[in-house]
Amino acid sequence: MMPRDDTRRDPRYDVLFEPIAIGPVTAKNRFYQVPHCNGMGYRDPTALAWMRGVKAEGGWGVVCTEEVEIHHTSDIAPYIELRLWDDRDIPALARIADRIHEFGALAGIELAYNGPNGPNSYGREVPLAPSGMPVATSDYDPVQARAMTRRDIRDFRRRHRAAARRAREAGFDLIYVYAAHCLSVLHFFLSPLHNRRSDEYGGTPRNRVRLLEEVLTDTREAVGDTCAVPCRISTDELLGPNGLEKAEAEEMIGLVAELPDLWDVALAAWENDSQTSRFGPEGRQEPFIEGVKRLTTKPVVGVGRYTSPDRMAAVIRKGIADLVGCARPSIADPFLPRKIEEGRLEDIRECIGCNICVSGDFSMSPIRCTQNPTMGEEWRKGWHPERIRRRESDKPVLVIGAGPAGLEAAQALGKRGYEVTLAERGADLGGRVARECRLPGLAAWGRVRDYRVQQLHQLPNVEVYFDSGLDAGSVLELGCPRVVVATGARWRADGVGRHRPRPLPIAPRARVLSPDDVMDGAALPAAGERVVVWDDDHYYLAGVIAEMLAERGCETLYLTPASEASTWTRRTLEQHFIQARLLEKGVAIRSFTALDAVAEGAVTASCVFTGRTESLEADTVVLVTSRTPEDRLAAELAGRAEDWADAGIETVTTIGDALAPATIAHAVYAGRRYAEELDGPPRTGDEVPFRRELAELAPLD
Ligand code: ADP
Ligand code: SF4
Repeated sequence: MMPRDDTRRDPRYDVLFEPIAIGPVTAKNRFYQVPHCNGMGYRDPTALAWMRGVKAEGGWGVVCTEEVEIHHTSDIAPYIELRLWDDRDIPALARIADRIHEFGALAGIELAYNGPNGPNSYGREVPLAPSGMPVATSDYDPVQARAMTRRDIRDFRRRHRAAARRAREAGFDLIYVYAAHCLSVLHFFLSPLHNRRSDEYGGTPRNRVRLLEEVLTDTREAVGDTCAVPCRISTDELLGPNGLEKAEAEEMIGLVAELPDLWDVALAAWENDSQTSRFGPEGRQEPFIEGVKRLTTKPVVGVGRYTSPDRMAAVIRKGIADLVGCARPSIADPFLPRKIEEGRLEDIRECIGCNICVSGDFSMSPIRCTQNPTMGEEWRKGWHPERIRRRESDKPVLVIGAGPAGLEAAQALGKRGYEVTLAERGADLGGRVARECRLPGLAAWGRVRDYRVQQLHQLPNVEVYFDSGLDAGSVLELGCPRVVVATGARWRADGVGRHRPRPLPIAPRARVLSPDDVMDGAALPAAGERVVVWDDDHYYLAGVIAEMLAERGCETLYLTPASEASTWTRRTLEQHFIQARLLEKGVAIRSFTALDAVAEGAVTASCVFTGRTESLEADTVVLVTSRTPEDRLAAELAGRAEDWADAGIETVTTIGDALAPATIAHAVYAGRRYAEELDGPPRTGDEVPFRRELAELAPLD
């Protein structure tokens, strides 16, 4: 939506728009996009530049890169971040800085030397650490890092200085010293757990902070006359007395308090700093940030998945920090600052805290976002989070089904100016998110619906009809030229899934529930009953249902053929928290165990390795396996294709879960894609539908 002229920001938020000096540079406001990964990195630098540029356009005062490898002796393969190994990397980085500058923001770069956080699979050098240790990777790579000698330390400092100079040459205004998240060798030096040195770089807090002090001094000397030097640090490793605790971290910050131009305060390892809404509320990091301002005169920034302007203003007013740090809220809504400035709070697309964005980094694929389907497509497809081209025909569109796919299609088509009819079978909008947001911990999922419904309210050209379950006859009667079938999917109740591609043997009188039965409020098992939850889906739902049943007092047994509960949630940084919560709630988790058959009062299960079977008592079994597309309507319409022309129908397109069930993010994307491509250039489907960059071939001699 274009900004409305008659609106202005509420004076309550003025504090968010005050400029602030950060060393030798000045940010125009307090909206600070902290460094965040995105799965594009050195492979997709222009796509990355455009993504950052859209945030600058949306009003962020500072826009930073993700971590940037500074030297070939520490790479983070297989993950794809940016690189600044030598001068040849400067042009790609410069393109990013330039694009950020084009829209008036400051450009920040997070220089990173991962050290023991990567096995150096690409560069094949021996990884370096404060003390010898196995590399700290989640893949348990059979590689150890060696302890840095004094010479290694000198080399590292020289390399960091060189990278800082290159970053300045690329045009960056803020050049980070990164010492946080267990992703930087400097973090490992600070940590009493990992730093076992007996020289002047180990032992006391004074000694452990020495290298950070030196690198901060080096970086200031190298670029500090024109560039700001922020320091990102974790104030607690959340490991209790074994690790770095807040008091000691503050002691160390106090020792170098005035050296950086800004303190960017993080919490422990990445999974703690980017917790999902299921496990941490907005502003969760505040207790770990607020002490830092007492230690330094320099500005402080911290994150907290802030999406509420009031909460953001309070961060500044209460003196918790001087700038509001955001990664995910800036992904979900790159125009968040502009919307606050223009008094359009109702248009803010609030992050739901699902961490699908993080999964891009873990899958080394371009970042996507549940709320913002244009994320990652700004350059590849030319999509924009706030703008979409005008309609190119007068032909109305009928969208059937108001789940994430249908809602997104309807609102995006409405913004293009098409006449849209949205027909929903039920009495509520939102489809699966309306149902799932009632489950424990998933309330924020409802924002996927809320944002879109809010947008629909502003579009007079979109009509919404409730209680309108359509069949092929009624669709033909309506005679809308374009029909979009977004009728969703239902969870299977027969056990078909990944591990078991065929229906399970289920005794006629056995009590079996599908996740839909649970969400529909079917007679749930009572306290004390024995329930088996079979997870052959591996994302969040089986875990959520097990948690809910344990809360009811059921004796809950979680069976999974995988090594752990909800295993895909490793990619959303949640697996550890999910498993811990299930165990704390008394859920028994049986890994590497497959469900073979369901009888009355019992199930047969087997070990996935040996095939050894056992019988387990179960009053009720919940099967969380896979979904069946709700494609009856699409099939009926296809069967009557010869009637379309008479009815005035030109195209029928199935999107979202009705085509192939996947995540909410996939459904929203499908809705957006339909709207973006309608009346676009004809495509055969053979051509690559997005721009990409190809590696430049080296000369052969
Ligand atoms: P997706 O994730 O693809 O958006 P959902 O399952 O969340 O799918 O939503 C599908 C929506 O479509 C649900 O709200 C459902 O009530 C609605 N729906 C399903 N079949 C019909 C139909 N024949 N007519 C109208 N609405 C339908
Ligand atoms: Fe927020 Fe989810 Fe989007 Fe990430 S993917 S920014 S967590 S809504």
